Amino acid sequence: MYISTPRNIAPLDTILPDEPLLMMGAGPVPIPARVAAANSIVINHLGDTMSQIIEQVKSMSGYVFQTRSSRILGVAGPGSAAMEMAVANLIEPGDSCLCICNGFFSNRLAEMAERNGASVVRHLVAGNESVDVAAFENLLNTHCPRVVTIVQGETSNTVCNRGLADICQIARRHNCLVIVDAVCTLSTMLLNMDEWGIDAVITGGQKGLSSIPGVSLVAFSERAWEAISQRKTPMQHWCLDAKLADQFWYQKAYHYTAPVSGVLAIHEALRLICNESLPTRFTRHLRSSSALQAGIEAMGLTLFIEPQHRLNSVVGIKLPDGVEGPSLLHYMSSHYKVEISGSFGASIVRIGQMGEQCRAHNIFRTLHALGASLTSLGVNVDVPAGVSALEKSLQDFDKHAGYAAPAQGQFAAVSSN
Ligand SMILES: *Cc1c(COP(=O)(O)O)cnc(C)c1O
Repeated sequence: MYISTPRNIAPLDTILPDEPLLMMGAGPVPIPARVAAANSIVINHLGDTMSQIIEQVKSMSGYVFQTRSSRILGVAGPGSAAMEMAVANLIEPGDSCLCICNGFFSNRLAEMAERNGASVVRHLVAGNESVDVAAFENLLNTHCPRVVTIVQGETSNTVCNRGLADICQIARRHNCLVIVDAVCTLSTMLLNMDEWGIDAVITGGQKGLSSIPGVSLVAFSERAWEAISQRKTPMQHWCLDAKLADQFWYQKAYHYTAPVSGVLAIHEALRLICNESLPTRFTRHLRSSSALQAGIEAMGLTLFIEPQHRLNSVVGIKLPDGVEGPSLLHYMSSHYKVEISGSFGASIVRIGQMGEQCRAHNIFRTLHALGASLTSLGVNVDVPAGVSALEKSLQDFDKHAGYAAPAQGQFAAVSSN
């Protein structure tokens, strides 16, 4: 006897919306046409074409991470798999680990460290703020951890650890291994892996890089690699074993069948970033996010995080009284075909400003959808004032800061080998 064919399976075109929704939430974000096209191709995972692509992915990643490390690995899996790869390879049972916890994702790093047998001290940063650098240094002196974990941007509550460069440099002086989660921030704002002394940088595909979900990158420093090479205990994870992954990424040998289409997609995403250049891309993100924030405030809404602690890559907005997050999201999606994100507990909604989300046409459409939906739900917001403030912010930005003379000298060029 066979289990019979399932009934009533609808073809995709009857399930998907007629017109794609504009993805303006906390990820996944819209992908450029070239990334989508690359993602539709399947090639031999061990052939010459693939090795050429792998070489280019590594050299472009070196630019995007700002590292000369030759330990940049791709991971078949979400950003969380990249987090797990960094944590599981660098932590051995009994290691002391200080985890800076600003919210949901930084807590996930702490949980992963615990599951890998570390003795974890969580520094819970209260009040939706960046971690305080002096407080961090005191903790280092008290606990002398071997490993420190931290997020650059805490997507869940839209807090940015503004002092990240100092934190990393201080941790390095204390001889700690520093793991930085840059899933939502990489290529949207400054991160200098080598200069800041970071030992592992984690990113995913579907946020800052504007690629697809499911293929991620981790960059290890040479120091981190030494620690991995000198492990006393074997890695529990076979798929996430960095030394096995190194065989594929650096020695053209088989580990597991790489997600070839997704690697092609991330290749194109990285190439677009290199063509744009980091300084221009950071400026585009700052210009777009600042204008969106100005528009939201001018409409009469309140941003969740104080300016000095605020993340630009994901913008958190307090829900006005009398509106439930899910009804607002549903209204925006069904009436205006714009998707934004709800929250992890706090009474906020979140709009992403990562990669392709940072285009003027996308932020105008999103701000209008937000304001018009709130109006329909009975909230008194001034949509014209918001749209006008958005436009004014863009114009002022071009007049004052502008795209003039990006500080190219600050960034190492892509290596040409
Ligand atoms: C999204 C996100 C993750 C997790 O990525 P997944 O692809 O959902 O596993 C981790 N850290 C941060 C900061 C994120 O924004």
